[in-house]
Amino acid sequence: MIIKFWGARGSIPVCGKDFLKYGGSTTCVEITDSKGDNLIVDSGTGIKNLGKAFMKDHIRQINMIFTHQHWDHVSGFPFFAPIYRDVEITVMGCSYSTDGAREIIAKTMQPPGFPVKFEEIEAKFKFRTMCSRGCKLGNLDVFPIELSHPNGGLGYKFVENGREFVFLTDNELGYSHYGGKTLEDYVRFCSGAELLVHDADYTEEEYKIRKTWGHST
Ligand SMILES: [Zn+2]
Repeated sequence: MIIKFWGARGSIPVCGKDFLKYGGSTTCVEITDSKGDNLIVDSGTGIKNLGKAFMKDHIRQINMIFTHQHWDHVSGFPFFAPIYRDVEITVMGCSYSTDGAREIIAKTMQPPGFPVKFEEIEAKFKFRTMCSRGCKLGNLDVFPIELSHPNGGLGYKFVENGREFVFLTDNELGYSHYGGKTLEDYVRFCSGAELLVHDADYTEEEYKIRKTWGHST
């Protein structure tokens, strides 16, 4: 699988010379399996440039999943250009917090916050339930795990031909939020991963005053 990070930040997008190394966009990851099928994880502001790339390559079938509903993981959705074209978007979802996958998307375009409503865009959407058993998507097996994070959420393991990528952003290992797992559960979940992306927002010093905010050291 090919993994590309279009946005790697949390909280808000930033710009300026201090942010050239990792870019200024919030969370959006593109995974391409060996058959060429795509899967987008989260629609932070990084999805804007991914949309441009998909338009250039005339991509018509798009798959998406979300880790959770916080702004930095969803707010780019209305700026994802393919949604205004005749494309088919399959969204796999579960209960991330209070909303299902459709509501997560639709709320980013809710008036008066955005001028175009979700019901008015041209793309055709399919919503599939995934929940704890995971799902198969092209050549990828996708397994979720509940995050330890305010308002909940899901982390994921992506497996293709025995190779594993684990994506656990927004996960607090030092405190158990409602619905979250234990440190041992996360260690077990990640144990076969060749690539692990995990929340490491704070230094030990910072964490002393930010415990329970939903992030790790
Ligand atoms: Zn969050």
